[in-house]
Amino acid sequence: MKIYISGLHSGTNPQPGVGIARSVRAGYPGAEIIGVEYSNRSSGIHWTDFDDIWLQRPWAELNLPQYAAQIEKVLDAGGWWISGSDLESLWLADVFSNGHPQLLTPPLAALEQTAKPNIAARGALPIKIPTFVTTELTDWELHAFCREHDWRVWLKGPYYEAIRVRDWGTLEHFRQVLSSGWTTERLFLQAHVSGYEQSISFAAYKGELLECVYMHKRDLTEENKTWAGETSEVSEDFKTKLRQMVKDTNWTGGAELEMVCDPAGQLWLLEINPRFPAWIHGSTLTGKNIPATLIEAASGIKAQKPLTTNRQFSRVILEVPVRARFPLPPLPEPLPAALGHSLKHPAGLTALAEKLHRRNQTAVCAQTQNTASVPAIPTEFLADLEKFDLAEIETPASLFLQQTATDLFQKAAKFAQAASRPNLKIVNAYSIKTNPDARLIKLAKENGFLAEGISPLEIRKALTVGFKPEETILNGPGKWWRQEALPKSALRAIFADSINDLNRIISALQTGTLKAKTVGLRLRTPNVASRFGISIDSPGAFQELVAAVRTLPRENEFGVHFHFASSNIGLGQWWHLFESMLGWSASIERLSGRKIELLDAGGGWFPDDLNRSFTDQMGNVAYRVEEMLPNVRQIVFEPGKALAQPSFAVAMRVLEINGNEVVVDGSIAELPMYFFYPHRIVWQNSRTGVWQPLGRGNTQLFGRLCMEHDVVGTNVGLPAEAEPGDALVFFDAGAYDQSMSYIFGQG
Ligand SMILES: *Cc1c(COP(=O)(O)O)cnc(C)c1O
Repeated sequence: MKIYISGLHSGTNPQPGVGIARSVRAGYPGAEIIGVEYSNRSSGIHWTDFDDIWLQRPWAELNLPQYAAQIEKVLDAGGWWISGSDLESLWLADVFSNGHPQLLTPPLAALEQTAKPNIAARGALPIKIPTFVTTELTDWELHAFCREHDWRVWLKGPYYEAIRVRDWGTLEHFRQVLSSGWTTERLFLQAHVSGYEQSISFAAYKGELLECVYMHKRDLTEENKTWAGETSEVSEDFKTKLRQMVKDTNWTGGAELEMVCDPAGQLWLLEINPRFPAWIHGSTLTGKNIPATLIEAASGIKAQKPLTTNRQFSRVILEVPVRARFPLPPLPEPLPAALGHSLKHPAGLTALAEKLHRRNQTAVCAQTQNTASVPAIPTEFLADLEKFDLAEIETPASLFLQQTATDLFQKAAKFAQAASRPNLKIVNAYSIKTNPDARLIKLAKENGFLAEGISPLEIRKALTVGFKPEETILNGPGKWWRQEALPKSALRAIFADSINDLNRIISALQTGTLKAKTVGLRLRTPNVASRFGISIDSPGAFQELVAAVRTLPRENEFGVHFHFASSNIGLGQWWHLFESMLGWSASIERLSGRKIELLDAGGGWFPDDLNRSFTDQMGNVAYRVEEMLPNVRQIVFEPGKALAQPSFAVAMRVLEINGNEVVVDGSIAELPMYFFYPHRIVWQNSRTGVWQPLGRGNTQLFGRLCMEHDVVGTNVGLPAEAEPGDALVFFDAGAYDQSMSYIFGQG
C-alpha cells in the first residue's frame, strides 16, 4: 500500500501531514508513506514515518498541468492521496473534476459549500454562523459594524488568516495586507463570539460518514492553535445531522469543523476545513484512528485498531535528524513577514491562491454579496455644500454646514424633552472642547442645552457666547488651571476627578472662592481602563470615596458622573457600563447617606449611534434611573462629537496626479482624526460642477506636508477624469478634526 500525504509544514501553526502520517503508520505499520511538500523549509519532510519525500518546486514556480499529470500517474498506479492543505485540495478537485478512486479529497461542489463566511455545507447542523459582513461594504458601514459589535471583531481572509481588529487603523492596515496577499477584495469582518474553542473532525468516503470525534481544546499556542486537548464522542443527534451533511455534499476525505461554544451552550461555526486537523493524531492516541478508517473504507484492507483508554493528549517539541538528501538551507532572507503562517508559508500558498483565482473565480470565496461600495451622503450635507462657492474659497478650508448643525441640535433637544418624565428631566450639555466654535455653542444655548467645560477658560467661552453660570458644568482634572476665569456666581455643577480634587472643591466652597449648585464625583469605569475619575473597584478605594462624600456640605446637591466613549468600546459595552454605574451609584447613595440628585452620563457617541440606538433607548434610561436612583431629578447627556462631527466639512484641492498617487493641498493637520474613523468624501466634477461620492479604489490621497504619515485617504476611488485643481470635500470633520487641527507647513 502506497499513501501520499501532503501539508508537512510543522511549525507552531502546523499543517496536518505529520499527524496524518503517524496515524496511518499506526494503522498500517507496513504501508509505504510518501510525504509531499512544496518547500524544503517545511520541517515535516524530516519526519521518520515518511518512507520517502516527493518534493516539488514552490507553487509559484510549479508547472501545474505537468504536476497534475504526474499525480494522475501515481493515482493510476494505485497510490492513495490524502491532502493536508486546503488550497491543494481545491486545486485537485478542480483538476480531477470527476474525482479519482484513489484521491481521498472532497469534490469541488462540496468545497464550494465550505466557502467562508456563510459555509453553506453546514446544512442542518445545530450550529450558528457569527454575524459577518463583506469588506466590500463602504468604510462608513464597516466602522458601524465594528461599533455595533463592541470592536470585538475579526478580519478574515478567504482561506486562512483571522486578525482581531480593535480599532480603525488596524482594520485599514490589515485589509490592505490581506487583500494584496490573497489578491482579492473579498475579505470579511465577523463578530467575535466568546466561549470555548472546540472541534469535530471526521472522515467520509463517497458521501458516507465513517468516523468522527469531538475535541475540546485544553491548551493553546499564541496563535490559538491546539496544544493539548481532550476527545469525546459526538452526540447521536449531532452525528445524525453530520451524516446528512456528508451525504448531501458527497464528501470524501478528512474534515474539521472549527467551533466556539458560548456560555449558553450554543455552538458557533468558524470554519469547515476540507482536510484533517493538525491535531488528528491526538484522536488516534485517544482511541480513534480516523485517517486509518478512511484508508480502510477506501481500500478494503483492515487497519490495526488503536488500544487506549486515555482521552487526553498533549504536544511536545521534538528534535529530529535532518534527511541527508535535504540538507538545511541558510536562514531565509529577508525573514518572512510577521503576519500569519499562510502568508509567509514557505511553499508560497498565496501564489497558488492567485493561480486558482485566475482559473476559477467562483470556486473560492463565492458568497459575498455584491454591494455598492460608494457611501450614501446625507442629502442635508449636500444641500449645505451647495451654498458654498468653492471657486471663491482658499483651500484647505473648513466649511460650516449650518442647516445640518441646526437640525442636529434641535433633534437632540427634542429627544431629551420627549424622554423626560414629570420628576425626572433629561437635558443635554454641549461639550465645548469637542469644538469650541461659537456657532455651535450658540446653537446649544438656543436649544436649551447646558454648557460643559473641562477648564475655566472653556466656561468663560460659554459665558461669552451667552450662557449663564448656572447653565455650566465644570469637569475634568484641569479645573484649577486658570481658575481666575471662573465666574463669581454658582455653576450648575462641578465634578471631582479624584479624592484630592473633591477635598479641594469642598474647601473652595467653604471659603466662598467657588460656588456650585451640585457637587459630584466622576466615577472611574471598572473593568474598562480609564485614567479619569475616582476608583471604585477595590473595597479600600470605595470606602475612601464614601467617607469623602460624607464630608460634602449639606447646602450642595450631590451628583454622579461617568463617561466612557461608546465610539471606542461599542454600544453593547456602553449600555452594560451604564447599568453597572447605576448599581455602583445606588451603593454610594446607601452607604454615604447622601441622595444622588444629578446623574451625568458623559458623551463619546458616534453621530449615527446617537441617532439610531441612543434616542431609541432614552426612555429606557429614564425608567432605569427612576428604578435604581429614585432621588435623581436631572439626567445630563453631554454629546460633543455626536453633534459637532457632522457639522463641518473640510475642503481641499488636488495639486498633482501621479497615477494612483494624488497630492492634495489639505493634510492631516486639517484632518487629524483621519486615522481613527472613516470620513465620507465627495469630489467635484470640474466640468459639470456635480458632487460625486467616492467609493473604494486604488488612489492614495497624500497630504501636502513633507511627512511620511501625511496620508488623508487610502484606497479611494478617484475617477479617471479628476484633474489638478479639482475640489474634494471630506465630511464628518466637525469635531476633533476642527478642535485638534494645527497650523503646519505654512511658514
Ligand atoms: C469630551 C467630553 C465630552 C464630549 O465627548 P465627545 O467624545 O466629544 O462626544 C463629554 N463630557 C466630558 C466630561 C468630556 O470630557
